[in-house]
Amino acid sequence: MKIKHALLPGLIILSIILGIVLIGNPSRFFVRKNPLPQTVSEKPENIIPPESSKPDVAQKKENNATTSVSNFSGEDIKEYYGPVRHVFFHSLIVYPQMALADTGNTNGYRDNMLTVEQFKQVLQQLYENHFLLIDAKLLYSFNKNGSIRQNKLYLPKDKKPLILSIDDLSYYSYMKNGGFAHKLILENGIVETEILTPKGNKIITDDGDVVPIVDAFIKEHPDFSLNGAKGIIGLTGFEGILGYRTQWRGKQGDVERKNAALVADALKKSGWTFACHSFGHEQNFLKGTASLAFLRSDISLWTSQVQPLVGPTNVFIGPFGQVFTDGEARRKLLIDAGFNILYGVGMDGYIKYFGNYLVMNRIDIDGYRLKHNAKKLYDLFGLSVDANF
Ligand SMILES: [Zn+2]
Repeated sequence: MKIKHALLPGLIILSIILGIVLIGNPSRFFVRKNPLPQTVSEKPENIIPPESSKPDVAQKKENNATTSVSNFSGEDIKEYYGPVRHVFFHSLIVYPQMALADTGNTNGYRDNMLTVEQFKQVLQQLYENHFLLIDAKLLYSFNKNGSIRQNKLYLPKDKKPLILSIDDLSYYSYMKNGGFAHKLILENGIVETEILTPKGNKIITDDGDVVPIVDAFIKEHPDFSLNGAKGIIGLTGFEGILGYRTQWRGKQGDVERKNAALVADALKKSGWTFACHSFGHEQNFLKGTASLAFLRSDISLWTSQVQPLVGPTNVFIGPFGQVFTDGEARRKLLIDAGFNILYGVGMDGYIKYFGNYLVMNRIDIDGYRLKHNAKKLYDLFGLSVDANF
């Protein structure tokens, strides 16, 4: 007990210093230029109580739900006991020269994004290092009374499970000169990317962002995915979704909503799922100052504007990694709103099954990590990718 009391003031001081460093270093975040929230950095790690910051290795394994392994029939299937990694990405830079020329945002792009070429290297290396994309839902089941239980996981021998997610797949307006795709579009039933070239021509490509690249990669390497699982797409709503300005009112908005829903349907059919990433991605999530009333209103905007387009989801991806803490009213509000899977940000492998919900941290693989956490990325994933572009 004595030790605990001695540690507490130290931890508080450490948290304050950390907070000052993070908030006081705007180069790590996109600077907001207009009243709309534009910042999409997910860097600040979750504030998780020290006593629970270790991976929870003592979880009960009592469930017998069997993982279906249909696309690996005939392989040697084994129960998997190792860690389950979860990585996430933002939209990819198609034209690095445009990202560099968009000087006001270049630092943010460098920190939070990867180029298409870097992402392709990441994917290839994950595959070569025996990672296998799985549907995150394989990890857990819910009992009738709402309590959550951890499932056993069965994988082909020598494969390591990987959950992939994409945050902020909206193609925010601030990114329009940064060399990114503008939207996902459907071409003959396939989801592709619409891009504006440096010369200003509108073209459609099949490798302008994470979604079509992962789709094509799995088509070429079916053993990179368990049963065709792809990833989780975390969506806000304040500037629409998937490149469609679904927040617009009236007839123009109706067209955007119709097209966005068609793309969302095609994504779901091809193995992608959706998550709520808050509606407004407001800075008060980062600062931890979001009030209960604010959160209620933000979630209700998401439920009324985004959910009708992508369908219901029980997954909440915390903006800036913010998923609040156990026992807090704000976390309870999320769970009561139906979000019983909460994803934060952190390289610690944190995963914890609470009574009726799950919290898991995800590792951002982006320019910042390539530059500052290269060894960790190598140790965890065998990744070796040049941070420069
Ligand atoms: Zn975000």
